[in-house]
Amino acid sequence: MLAVNNIEVVYNDVILVLRGLSLAVPKGEIVALLGANGAGKSTTLKAISGLLRTEEGEVTRGDIRFAGERIDGLEAHEIVRRGIFQVMEGRRIVADMTPLENLRLGAFTRSDAEVRRDLEMVFEYFPRLKERTGLAGYLSGGEQQMLAIGRALMARPKLILMDEPSMGLSPLLVKEVFGIVRRLNRELGITILLVEQNARMALSVASYGYVMEQGKVVLDGTAEQLAGNEDVKEFYLGGH
Ligand code: ATP
Repeated sequence: MLAVNNIEVVYNDVILVLRGLSLAVPKGEIVALLGANGAGKSTTLKAISGLLRTEEGEVTRGDIRFAGERIDGLEAHEIVRRGIFQVMEGRRIVADMTPLENLRLGAFTRSDAEVRRDLEMVFEYFPRLKERTGLAGYLSGGEQQMLAIGRALMARPKLILMDEPSMGLSPLLVKEVFGIVRRLNRELGITILLVEQNARMALSVASYGYVMEQGKVVLDGTAEQLAGNEDVKEFYLGGH
């Protein structure tokens, strides 16, 4: 479904961050992208979603294909229209709007009836959001993360790019968020590319994974293979 082929990404014309990165995300799968801070995971997601442009970044080599068509070089809104939605690190919800207003932002030009139906679907996954009528800025960290995912759902994505959904959440909430990630994949058939510091959690929901170092993939395999790999255990799973 998604193929990233040997891409190079440069920020501000000079800083080379991705150095020949390739990965594939098959339809209907959850794929994990692991790696230390600064390896280039967020940059990879932004290259796919087109959000790189807002940060003076550019794909200078290679290509990115979605459903067989080249998408690198397209505007971010055009990439959303094709069915790819990125849930940003740090959530990026609109703090001075209500959850409902935030969700409506995720819906594009559709009839009111369709938007209502989609809202009901989002509230089925995130019932707590329905009860919160105050400003989104006052939601707890977990609720903000859920709102960010809910907003992605309103865009009816085929592929969701998730950047560290567990960041800043308590272990209990991390479990809840990952449970929802799994349900979105199984029940709605949404394909997911997941960037996570919490490698254990990521590998527990993913079918396949890639490990990045310094802008390149250094290791890939099924989630099971990676979870059993000695280097992965030592560096990403706390040595157990
Ligand atoms: P983290 O988990 O810390 O977010 P990461 O693997 O997602 O790490 P990136 O955020 O993609 O890594 O960053 C990779 C490298 O690119 C880092 O060295 C970072 O300093 C650099 N970088 C990221 N964004 C920019 C930018 N807008 N301009 C210049 N350099 C950037």
